[in-house]
Amino acid sequence: MTDQTFLKKSVSEDKRRQGRIQFIVKGSWLASIIVSVFLPLLWFRQLYAGDYTSLSELVLLLLLNITEMLFLFLIVPYHISSMYLRYAVLLAFLVGVVVSLTRMSGLPFWPVHFATNWLSSLLTFVFVGYFASFSVRALYGYMYREPTLHLPFPLRSGCYAVGHGGSSKMINYHAANTAQHYANDILKLNRWGTRARGIYPRQLDAYYIFGDIVYSPCDGLIVSALDGLADLVPSEMDPTHAAGNHVIIMYQDRKILLAHLQQNSVLVRAGQQVREGQPIGKVGNSGNTSEPHLHIHAEYGGSSDRFGDGVGVPILFTEKGFLKRNDILIIRDKFQRE
Ligand SMILES: [Zn+2]
Repeated sequence: MTDQTFLKKSVSEDKRRQGRIQFIVKGSWLASIIVSVFLPLLWFRQLYAGDYTSLSELVLLLLLNITEMLFLFLIVPYHISSMYLRYAVLLAFLVGVVVSLTRMSGLPFWPVHFATNWLSSLLTFVFVGYFASFSVRALYGYMYREPTLHLPFPLRSGCYAVGHGGSSKMINYHAANTAQHYANDILKLNRWGTRARGIYPRQLDAYYIFGDIVYSPCDGLIVSALDGLADLVPSEMDPTHAAGNHVIIMYQDRKILLAHLQQNSVLVRAGQQVREGQPIGKVGNSGNTSEPHLHIHAEYGGSSDRFGDGVGVPILFTEKGFLKRNDILIIRDKFQRE
C-alpha cells in the first residue's frame, strides 16, 4: 500500500468513526429528551388513572414507580431538557402517590382475577429489580474516598449544572478511568434551566457556558498549558487531543486539569505561578468534547507535567461539596474584584 492510499484510507476511516460518534451523541441527546419528558407521563399515568384492583397491585405499582422515580431523578441529565422538569417530575410523582393512596380504602388485598394477574406482577417485579439496581449504583456514586481536595469553584458568573459528577459510571462516565474517576463536566443554565438554545445546536455561542472566564481554583504552579486548537462545531470531536486547549496546575502534590478551553484564550504558560482567583482562560469546545463545557479533575501521582497517568482525587468545592450529576451551583461574581 502506498503512503497516499494509506492516508486516504485512514482519512475515510476517521470520517466514518466521527460519523458514528456524532450519531451516538445526537441519538443520546434525543433519547435524553424523550426519557425526561415522555417516560414520566407513561410511568406515572397508572397512579392517576387508578389502574389497579387490589392493595397488592397498588403496593407493587408504588414500588415500581419509586424505583423509576429514582432512576429519573438521579441518572437522567436534565440540563438537556430543563432542570425545572426534574422537580416537576418529582412533584407529579408525589401528587400521584397521594391520589393513589386516597383510593385505597375498600380495595381487597389480593386481586379478584389472580390467575390472569400473576404474569404482569412477575414482570413488574423484574422491572422493579432492574430500576432498583440502576438507582443503587447511582447512589453509590454519591460516596467518595479520602483524601479529598478542597477548592473554590473555578467559574464565577451564573447558574451552573453538573453534567457528569460522582463516583459511579451511572452518573459520571469518567468513573471508568482511574485518573479521571472523580472528574466533573460543568455546563451553564439559562433561566429556564437548560444549557443551550436548542436541543443540540451547532453554534458555539448557543451554549451559555461558552466564553465564560475560568479562574484558577488555587495558588499553584502551571506545569502545562496548551492553546491554539480550534473550537469544534458540536458534535465534531478531536480524540487525538483529548483535553484540547488546557491548563494543568500543580497544587499540594495534586495535578488539577482544566480542559476544553477556548482557542486563544489561555492566559498562563508552563512554569508560571498563579494565585487563586486569577483568570486562566475561557470555556471553549476544543479537544475530545461533544459540546462546550468545562472539564475539571484532580489526580495524584504520575508524571509532573501530564494528566491521565495518576490516580483520581475527589474535589470538594467550597460552594457545594462533592459534585454529582444534576447538582446546581449558583455563583455570584466572587472573583470579579480581582
Ligand atoms: Zn470530561
